[in-house]
Amino acid sequence: MSQSMFRALIPPADPQGNIKSAKRTACRASGLLPSRAIRPPSFTFKSFAPSPASTSYAKCGSYQYDLESGKYPLTWPSLDHMKVWLRKEEDAQGVSFLLKEAEPNGGKGVHQWTTKHIYVCSRVGTGGKSKYVPNHPEREREIGNKRMDCSCGVVGKSYPGGATILGKYDNSHSHPIGAENLIYTRIPPEVRYKIEQDLRDGIRPDIVLARARGNVHTEQNLPHLASHAPRPEEFIKAKGVPRIQKKIEAGTIHLDAQDGRSTLQWVEHLEAIRALMYFKSSSDPPPPDSEMLLFTFIVRDRYGRGMPIAWLISSNGKGDTIDYFLKNLRARNPDILPSKLMSDNDSAQLGKYRFRYPESLLLLCWWHVLHAWQKHFVITHFAELWDKLKGWIRITDPDKFWTCWEEIKALAPDSVIEYLEEYYMGETTLKMWSAMYRKDRTIFELCDTNMLVEAWHHILKTHNMEGKRNRRVNQLIHTLINVALLNYIANHRAQQFRIPWPRSRASEAKSN
Ligand SMILES: [Zn+2]
Repeated sequence: MSQSMFRALIPPADPQGNIKSAKRTACRASGLLPSRAIRPPSFTFKSFAPSPASTSYAKCGSYQYDLESGKYPLTWPSLDHMKVWLRKEEDAQGVSFLLKEAEPNGGKGVHQWTTKHIYVCSRVGTGGKSKYVPNHPEREREIGNKRMDCSCGVVGKSYPGGATILGKYDNSHSHPIGAENLIYTRIPPEVRYKIEQDLRDGIRPDIVLARARGNVHTEQNLPHLASHAPRPEEFIKAKGVPRIQKKIEAGTIHLDAQDGRSTLQWVEHLEAIRALMYFKSSSDPPPPDSEMLLFTFIVRDRYGRGMPIAWLISSNGKGDTIDYFLKNLRARNPDILPSKLMSDNDSAQLGKYRFRYPESLLLLCWWHVLHAWQKHFVITHFAELWDKLKGWIRITDPDKFWTCWEEIKALAPDSVIEYLEEYYMGETTLKMWSAMYRKDRTIFELCDTNMLVEAWHHILKTHNMEGKRNRRVNQLIHTLINVALLNYIANHRAQQFRIPWPRSRASEAKSN
């Protein structure tokens, strides 16, 4: 609504006055009586108005009193109408209004009015004084401080028995309004809603921002921009979008401000959707700086691609924890028996696998085996040895294998030979890593390293977690079940129907 239309709403003064003198005295004593009583505007929305028992006894603060006193010259059929009006006024003036308070009537005149809706200029703010102390007060801020005293405000008053709102408006700002003030205004609610929708749809924040600004800052649009006044949404700051994203996450991911409680709520949710295998809380919580570990159980699907089937998030990776995980995994999926289990070179884990899945063939991941070996010598100094070891692990023919072993012994320092003999040449261990025992593999089992898992972790960290490290457990659970799993299932469906589908790096991963 424009300024001129607003003025038209102010009713003309009534020279006679029509409030009883006794009332006038009482109200004057409390300082409430206007200097001139004013007749109500002729275009009041009568149909919505409460019907006072008698106009002659309009009580101080009542609808009839406020209407006649002229103290509240604005009229809206309902609170919603008032909000629409405020929104238009914001656009017209280049300001924004914040609801400071919806003050309920708690006083003596409780029957006269119900609530005062008090809106203030956004430059005043609704909170108290900022506790922020600038580190460098001498530095001039690029954008001046938003907060200041400004007397501008709108009050809408509601009354019992009807929806009509009477209002008053002080539009004297103590700062420039219009374009100059846009940088200090809030994001208009309808634009904010659009931002939220876009973010929920997974649209990239930079694109969300451009859309929120109306995609107007294009070179092609320059002529249009030159001939039009700026709109408030044009100057939505870049940090506005992540701020809104945080609020959304607060409702969908961080279910409680406290991480522990939020995790418990996630546990309940997972249980409700039957996605929880088990939850074990500790009465003796891990030290606050301890890292949470993620364990992923990946199976090869029939197309040879990896598919995570179970996750363990734990504050420790000790043998007992792994054992508990495996015990539950097996109990929950009694019909599923892996023919081969591949793990990295962690002896605590290996023992537990052997214990919980004795029927499965336990294999060591080549990548991890080589990784362990190369820690015992400098690759650049023993380049030939390193090449031999990489080939040795894949030799399927026993004669060639043992010949190669002799050659390795000739090349390697004594410490390396001793290490290999002690930890890798025993009968049980040898079967776990040498290709001599991996001959009868089908094409689907050609997973000789758990690089698959490594690659999965890489993808999780860089893509699904948006490159942020140390994200909270809530965020991790959300990413696993709401993002990563969806991608894997889509991938699997594409395979099923032979739809050409880009192979993810996880399933591309090859041993090297
Ligand atoms: Zn102001």
